[in-house]
Amino acid sequence: MSSQPRCPHCRHFLYLDTLVCPNCEAELGFHMLSRQFYGLRNNRTVIAERTWYTCSNRDWACNWLVRDDAPAGRCFSCRLTRTRPAADDTVALQKLASTEEAKRRLILQLASLGLPIVGWDLKPGGLGFDLISSLTDGRPVMIGHANGIITIDLAESLDDRREALRVRLGEPYRTILGHLRHEVGHYYQNVLLTDDAAWAQCRAMFGDERASYQDALKRHYAMGAPENWHESFISEYATMHPWEDFAETFAHYLHITGTLQTAAAIGIRLDAAVTSLRDADVVPRESYEDEPIQRLLTDWEWMSQAFNRINRSMGFRDLYPFELVAPVRRKLGFMHEIVTKAPLTSEEQMAMAAPWDEERT
Ligand SMILES: [Zn+2]
Ligand SMILES: [Zn+2]
Ligand SMILES: [Zn+2]
Repeated sequence: MSSQPRCPHCRHFLYLDTLVCPNCEAELGFHMLSRQFYGLRNNRTVIAERTWYTCSNRDWACNWLVRDDAPAGRCFSCRLTRTRPAADDTVALQKLASTEEAKRRLILQLASLGLPIVGWDLKPGGLGFDLISSLTDGRPVMIGHANGIITIDLAESLDDRREALRVRLGEPYRTILGHLRHEVGHYYQNVLLTDDAAWAQCRAMFGDERASYQDALKRHYAMGAPENWHESFISEYATMHPWEDFAETFAHYLHITGTLQTAAAIGIRLDAAVTSLRDADVVPRESYEDEPIQRLLTDWEWMSQAFNRINRSMGFRDLYPFELVAPVRRKLGFMHEIVTKAPLTSEEQMAMAAPWDEERT
């Protein structure tokens, strides 16, 4: 069974951001809980005897559906956006649309991993997004995370700016989705590590996060990463401070599981007869929740090599330009452990099951 999204009318394959079926031209809305597209009539559809409407940000390309009782008609993802450009800043709003698309992909992945998502408007320290542009008034916007709120500079959705930064910083990979996956790692470090034992394990793996961040920042930008960083870290940035190592590793856990999930949904598998180094096909899974980390990493080793070769055949850089050395694999194992055992408290379960029930008092 594949959960590849398809048009409900003509069964054509759809991308996650589809608004109108490219084959039969039906207006479509995406229902996040079932991960399925529904056909719309007068901007609405009926799912399980309830009416669902298009999100009020549909003009800015949001294709998610909202239940009839959602306040302000904003979908679960749009509601998590705390700050956005002013209504008359249409240049910034255009960039917002592509950033929101990456954010919806993130939210969908967090939900399918079973991670709790409690919005900033429901709980202090809850997850929220300030999506603002440094081009609006020329003031710099620091991409980062503080107390549940993730700040993204929408100017980074411009290819020339982002690519210039990537080259200047010597990074092999820089995308808005990558920023979101990194910053949400900071958020989940506090959410998922709930007792002293978990923090002790985390410190043994990533180092003591109580070390001065300011000193680390200064040192990193003055001296750069240590020469041998790739022997124990996934990226140069991860060497800066234990917080950053955690967030970088978390981002890679999302890169890997997200890409394998897509591969599984499409039905991609590697034939053992062709790979010939293995006696069984490589079959990616939509979920690795019940699998050991070794299975996840072995599948990824094969699949990422295949994807890199596909990219090279089009003259692109590698899809996954990273090396997973043994210490990084152990850190990813730690992520697998805390993500698959993520405790859903009853309040959080409620928020997950019915994220539209905002009018709880
Ligand atoms: Zn169609
Ligand atoms: Zn929306
Ligand atoms: Zn960070």
